Amino acid sequence: MPELPEVETIKQQLTPILPFKIEAAMFSPLTKRIVKQIDFDLTNFTIIKIRRHAKWLIFDLKPYGHILSHLGMSGSWQMSHAPLDEKHGHIEFIDKSKKDFGVLTYIDPRRFGHFYLLTDENFKLKEDKLPIDITSPDFDVNHIAETFFMYPNKPIKPFLLDQKAFPGVGNYMASEILARAGILPTRLSGDIDAHEIEKMKAAMDIVVSGAIETKGTTFSGGYRDANGSKGEGVKHLVVFYQNYCQMCLEKEKVTKVIKTIQGGRGTYHCPVCQL
Ligand SMILES: [Zn+2]
Repeated sequence: MPELPEVETIKQQLTPILPFKIEAAMFSPLTKRIVKQIDFDLTNFTIIKIRRHAKWLIFDLKPYGHILSHLGMSGSWQMSHAPLDEKHGHIEFIDKSKKDFGVLTYIDPRRFGHFYLLTDENFKLKEDKLPIDITSPDFDVNHIAETFFMYPNKPIKPFLLDQKAFPGVGNYMASEILARAGILPTRLSGDIDAHEIEKMKAAMDIVVSGAIETKGTTFSGGYRDANGSKGEGVKHLVVFYQNYCQMCLEKEKVTKVIKTIQGGRGTYHCPVCQL
């Protein structure tokens, strides 16, 4: 599933091809499930900026309006020189004036993604309801402490996957954040002290920026970045999908990583580093 680093990667890769004038827009008959709202015909509108908010991509359009795109389980935007021969390509934008990357395709094999084309007014209504982005300055230690104070009885690992509380944190990121912060995944949210929250926030920044640097990480769901490549983030993981704790190995200790299932999701932790 594309998580925050993957969405950020797609944003960063698409940005150099802007502005992108949508001279033609094609929607496959299968987009019905993906396309939630179309306020106007976007032919000859230009994408001038791409932003990310949590796991949403926002395309700012000229002369007005915005596209709001959520990649769901398996969505991606790919740029190419010519139309892709891709059976799961559901939305296609063409800019004929471009020599390079004149085609932008939304690919989504499982079709759980969401696509909105909104006027400025309707976009504002929707944007106001999006959660605080975990990479925004507002998502600080105080914000995390308040969240734990309000919901003190939640096992921390599944709680990190709650998209309302921690938008953009995915399964591998949750295991990695807790490993780097030295917190056992079974601990309760209300039991995590101020110092540990600081470590969690620092770990969150490292995991998010590290994963963005390596263009995201993919384990399932067929995530591809805007160039159609898989991410390479796997080499920076300390516990997730690892046999041995990489933090222990750095200290020349060998500790087997323990895998458990919590809330139906694979959870990895180091019995030495995490308390
Ligand atoms: Zn360890």
